[in-house]
Amino acid sequence: MTRDAMLRRLQAHDRPWDMVIVGGGATGAGVAVDAASRGYDVLLVEQLDFGKGTSSRSTKLVHGGVRYLEQGNISLVIEALKERGTLRQNAPHLVRDLGFVVPSYIWWESPFYGLGLKLYDQLSGKYRFGPTRRLSKEETLELLPTIRTEGLRGGVVYYDGQFDDSRLLINLVTTAAEQGATTVNYVRAVGLTKDADNYVNGVALVDHESGRDIHAAARVVVNATGAFCDGLRLMADPDAKRMVAPSQGTHLVFDRTFLRGDNAIMVPHTTDGRVMFAIPWHGHTLVGTTDVPVDDVPIEPRGTDEEIALILETAGRYLERPPTRADILSVFAGIRPLVRAGDATNTAALSRDHTVHIDRSGLLTIAGGKWTTYRNMAEDCVNQAATLAELEERPCITRTLNIHGYHQNAEKFGALSLYGSDAPAIQNLALNEAGLGERLHPDLPYTAAEVVWAARAEMARTVEDVLARRTRALFLNARAALAMAPRVAALLAREQGRDAAWQAAEVERFAAVAAGYVAV
Ligand SMILES: Cc1cc2nc3c(=O)[nH]c(=O)nc-3n(C[C@H](O)[C@H](O)[C@H](O)COP(=O)(O)OP(=O)(O)OC[C@H]3O[C@@H](n4cnc5c(N)ncnc54)[C@H](O)[C@@H]3O)c2cc1C
Repeated sequence: MTRDAMLRRLQAHDRPWDMVIVGGGATGAGVAVDAASRGYDVLLVEQLDFGKGTSSRSTKLVHGGVRYLEQGNISLVIEALKERGTLRQNAPHLVRDLGFVVPSYIWWESPFYGLGLKLYDQLSGKYRFGPTRRLSKEETLELLPTIRTEGLRGGVVYYDGQFDDSRLLINLVTTAAEQGATTVNYVRAVGLTKDADNYVNGVALVDHESGRDIHAAARVVVNATGAFCDGLRLMADPDAKRMVAPSQGTHLVFDRTFLRGDNAIMVPHTTDGRVMFAIPWHGHTLVGTTDVPVDDVPIEPRGTDEEIALILETAGRYLERPPTRADILSVFAGIRPLVRAGDATNTAALSRDHTVHIDRSGLLTIAGGKWTTYRNMAEDCVNQAATLAELEERPCITRTLNIHGYHQNAEKFGALSLYGSDAPAIQNLALNEAGLGERLHPDLPYTAAEVVWAARAEMARTVEDVLARRTRALFLNARAALAMAPRVAALLAREQGRDAAWQAAEVERFAAVAAGYVAV
């Protein structure tokens, strides 16, 4: 899967695509996998890198959503629990079971949450991950050795899934390509073309790297641009009403000592009524998230001082050693593409259900939902898109389609387990090419071989692509990622035939992005 080959395919395509999908996040990549595996002729374009939007900035949970149970949205919980099981089955190299402990400091909390979480467990039926049970104080401490002990009465443990969002995304894009889709990053949709009836019949694109204009004719255009989706809708119809109510969530990352053991903490009610998690992730501790309505949707959202203070304060109430600002290794924010419901002002209460909306121009927009339900969203979207474009009806096969990298015993690859069936190829690079076995930073497990693999097999173009989304260095430890940047730039330059000026510019560009992940 190389960008040059994909671009050549795009330029040589001389008939309308069955489906052009705009937006290379979870939603767009899921739609591309679904449509291509049904045998449709599919183009997927992403304006920057795959996963540059919200899909690399999630809490990394494959979950039914305990919160939605509380809101009474049982159908969403059941759907998500089912999808959780399907994803673990189709991508076992990326999804793992994780115990979540709800600690209790007040007498009624354990029985109260115990009941709700038992129901959560039962709703998962045959897709169950592990049995919910109540814990004594001692058992709670065994599962969470670094929890605050003062006033602790016990807890409840339930099980959900954890994954790596941008790794799953790149594996989905690869799966789509393997199923015949043309998938290109750094190609932006800048306009929509229409036929004599004012009906959308194609997309005007610009190749970000060469500046070249490209036109892609389409029988149907799917707008999967997440929190940005109103931008494309306004291109189709300047009078279109906004669909998305953007809501920002921020996470903080600390070292592993703050949360020892293999279990996560789930706080069902923060002081402002949100759910908060502290989760072991890639040898670090991930804590979040907030839920703040925002007006703008920047491509690099930044956690505000208030959000950081709120997370630190909440974490401090549950952890034996309260983390401080100086302990933050990385701070990252993402924007939820929640679908508007009337004039609701509290985005935490807005539905996480997805919506498929067809404008009178024929532009089909899919928005909302969550990472966990991407497959089901894609199935719904492709069913509707195929009807709209009068494509031949073909059944969805993704419920049992293995995702690229599928491997049932990937743990045996150690630090490379997330690559699943690709891990041996990376091990070979490290063994057979001089210098590629070396680690890029003492605090992170990544090697030069992974950079070369990302460039050769995963369409990584920039230092940021490698450090933020092919590896997770930027999200784990922003300063370490900054230190790795010059070496990554040199490796990419060798792969892409770039000069020293390109390398210097790349390091500078990455430093500007990474500055937003360092809490000062
Ligand atoms: C803080 C936070 C935590 C979350 N945690 C979880 C979780 O733990 N579990 C879970 O299941 N869900 C979670 N979610 C929800 C989940 O992350 C999102 O629902 C999902 O990632 C949205 O994916 P998307 O593809 O719709 O949007 P995006 O990932 O934003 O993708 C849209 C893409 O479109 C591209 N684009 C925009 N305009 C154009 C254009 N003109 N041309 C080409 N491309 C364009 C963008 O660059 C972007 O990459 C979380 C969300 C947030 C914000």
